[in-house]
Amino acid sequence: MLPLKETERVTTTQLQPKPIPALYTVYILRSQPRHASLYIGSTPHPPRRLSQHNGLAKGGAYRTSKKSLRPWDMVCLVSGFPSMIAALKFEWALNNPHKSLHIPAEKRAEAVKGLGRRKTGHLKRPRKSLTGVMESLRMLVGVRSFGRWPLRVHFFEEEVWRVWEKVGMKNAFGGLKIPVVTDFGGPTASSQGARVDEELLDPGIDGGDGNDDDDDDEDAQNEKKHGIYALPLDYTPIKEYVAKGQEIFEFERQGNCVVCKEAMAAGRGLYAICPKTSCEAVGHVDCWSRCLLKQEAKKVGMGRGDEILPTKGECLKCHGEVLWGDMMKELTLRIRGQAEVEKLLKKKKRRRAAAKGKVKGKGKAADEKGSNAEERNAKGNREVKTTSQRIVEDSEDSEFLDIAYL
Ligand SMILES: [Zn+2]
Ligand SMILES: [Zn+2]
Repeated sequence: MLPLKETERVTTTQLQPKPIPALYTVYILRSQPRHASLYIGSTPHPPRRLSQHNGLAKGGAYRTSKKSLRPWDMVCLVSGFPSMIAALKFEWALNNPHKSLHIPAEKRAEAVKGLGRRKTGHLKRPRKSLTGVMESLRMLVGVRSFGRWPLRVHFFEEEVWRVWEKVGMKNAFGGLKIPVVTDFGGPTASSQGARVDEELLDPGIDGGDGNDDDDDDEDAQNEKKHGIYALPLDYTPIKEYVAKGQEIFEFERQGNCVVCKEAMAAGRGLYAICPKTSCEAVGHVDCWSRCLLKQEAKKVGMGRGDEILPTKGECLKCHGEVLWGDMMKELTLRIRGQAEVEKLLKKKKRRRAAAKGKVKGKGKAADEKGSNAEERNAKGNREVKTTSQRIVEDSEDSEFLDIAYL
């Protein structure tokens, strides 16, 4: 069973086919006053989620509500999940290493050593130690079912990163090929940016940091952007890529498939585009996939030859690097994310307009509406608890909202 209650609330619209989310993460919280207390969760919005856990916004998990354990720090997170469900699966596996079939049996046995049993006979969940969590994390990002996703591990506490490194040195999972991002700048050291380990990161389209040069508001905010606050919460890093995709199909410039050379009829089939800004190579999704898989199979140590989905490769036209995850993000945005695309490409204009009219809160992201509603809702409930029956009627609306956001 998935630990839905402990994670973000799910709106019914999230069950519809949606584009690959701009960001979905699985995070590890550590209690500041008691380092031995850890918590694992998932969210599309780490800063908001952290403020919920710390009681600064409504909606934190029960297990993080103890005053003696607050504040919590988000010490590490994994990004790059292709969907909320994907993140929930990973979160569950990381929370239940003794049960997860993604983890080798002997490791699972190790995890349950000395564990007590519940009255029902089920094993108790092992107490989380930082070393244990880092071991599980290393294993999970390397297993086949998760290893093909474009995951990245981020560390915001040097001490925690050291444990990850140490764990890597003493076991077979040390040679992991996954990008690791470290950012120990802390909330005040504004001059230190994130450092990205290895050459594994895509230099092509992921260099954006979400700045709009002419946006004063944003410039002021950049002063304090670090750690989880520097993560791109929207599609800004692939904005140019998305704009290029819109243009190619609007003017029917797709031409012939870059792989099979056949002409591609407008509006038919799934076509994917090379992520490099200057390249307009377009191809059938299955052609791209076959082509990239073939490249992977040739490279020693990358594919095992029987994968269904590629991770990365080289564009046949511009020879630039193609990351499958980014390609699918653009494709899913184009075919099922029209609202997201419009928001992304018109963002600048709307912000300017908002600044001119000094209208506050108009340009807020759609997903913020949910938390606003929750907040109002929570306020309603609180009133009910402290006052008489008279306003119970009011709270029925709130309950309805509660159900709508479950
Ligand atoms: Zn083709
Ligand atoms: Zn290309």
